[in-house]
Amino acid sequence: MARCCASLLTPLQEHTSLTRYHFFMGAAADALRQAIYYLDRELAAAQKVRAFQRALGIVEELDDEKLANIQAAGKLTDLPGIGKSTGSVIAAAVAGTPNTYLDDLRERSEIPLGVGAALRAALKGDCHVHSTWSDGGATIEDMATAAAALGHDYVVMTDHSPRLTIAHGLSEERLAEQLDEIDRLNATMAPFRILTGLEVDILVDGSLDLSDEMLERLDVVVASVHSKFRLPADEMTQRMVLAIANPHVDVLGHMTNRKVVGSGRAPSEFDPDMVFAACAKFGTAVEINCRPERQDPPEELLALALEWECLLAINTDAHAPGQLEWQPYGCDKAVAAGVEPDQVINTWAADELLAWTASK
Ligand SMILES: [Zn+2]
Ligand SMILES: [Zn+2]
Repeated sequence: MARCCASLLTPLQEHTSLTRYHFFMGAAADALRQAIYYLDRELAAAQKVRAFQRALGIVEELDDEKLANIQAAGKLTDLPGIGKSTGSVIAAAVAGTPNTYLDDLRERSEIPLGVGAALRAALKGDCHVHSTWSDGGATIEDMATAAAALGHDYVVMTDHSPRLTIAHGLSEERLAEQLDEIDRLNATMAPFRILTGLEVDILVDGSLDLSDEMLERLDVVVASVHSKFRLPADEMTQRMVLAIANPHVDVLGHMTNRKVVGSGRAPSEFDPDMVFAACAKFGTAVEINCRPERQDPPEELLALALEWECLLAINTDAHAPGQLEWQPYGCDKAVAAGVEPDQVINTWAADELLAWTASK
């Protein structure tokens, strides 16, 4: 083993340098990270993303010498957790040869810009984003870094509230810790800004799953229904209107709760005129949720929201960095419906947005 490694390393050390050798090893991890980003962007099956995350974990754990040895012996896929696809991405990255799998993935996952291209360019941030603090797949820092790379000025961290235990909703104590973490990150990431927030559950009686005291501390609050989707329409309407009228609530998240992919989920039933009238009266923005499996609200409800002159927010509800790229879906839909940039709260500068939420 040692002899084999030595023979492999000698040419690298002689002709390049250890720095270059490290670059090769970093290239494998970097290629896997890119693959994960593109897989998230195309909303690939969770097991596929996990396979690449496992492979990344293995590549990061192996020391350079060992990975180089295994690669040279053509035994990458003998490693537990490295399969054909992950192995091909690693092999091409380490060898510096064309990375066909990664190139295909990048190309096919690209989000096309349609009629909403100018509106997308006008967006300065994203007001609905998750991290590993609840059920997201990336740290706050990674999400913020990806948002900054997309040209955003800010991102609002809106992890789940305590009652949503399946998504590791944040207790008041953990939320307070998250606010400290965001403070620390903002000190290093400026001028990019991470705004504080929460996707707070609208409980069945219309109350919110967090104390007024904590909600008051947050920059932007998104309120969503995550339970009892099948309430009778009059009860659901009352539930939603109570939340919309709460002075701490800034955005109504994925209003119908429908799912349009796979087995799907029928939209909740409510009186949309009552809901939009409340949004208009209390200045609560209606979210255009860009997740491909949600596409919420449907076109006919968006048209009605415009009749009521509601404010809107075009949010990705991203649970991974690659999903932050989904805003064009919502922008196309908004422009097709006749939405003007000014009525979309995330076309506003961060200070303007904060002044608006503070005045509510
Ligand atoms: Zn939600
Ligand atoms: Zn969400």
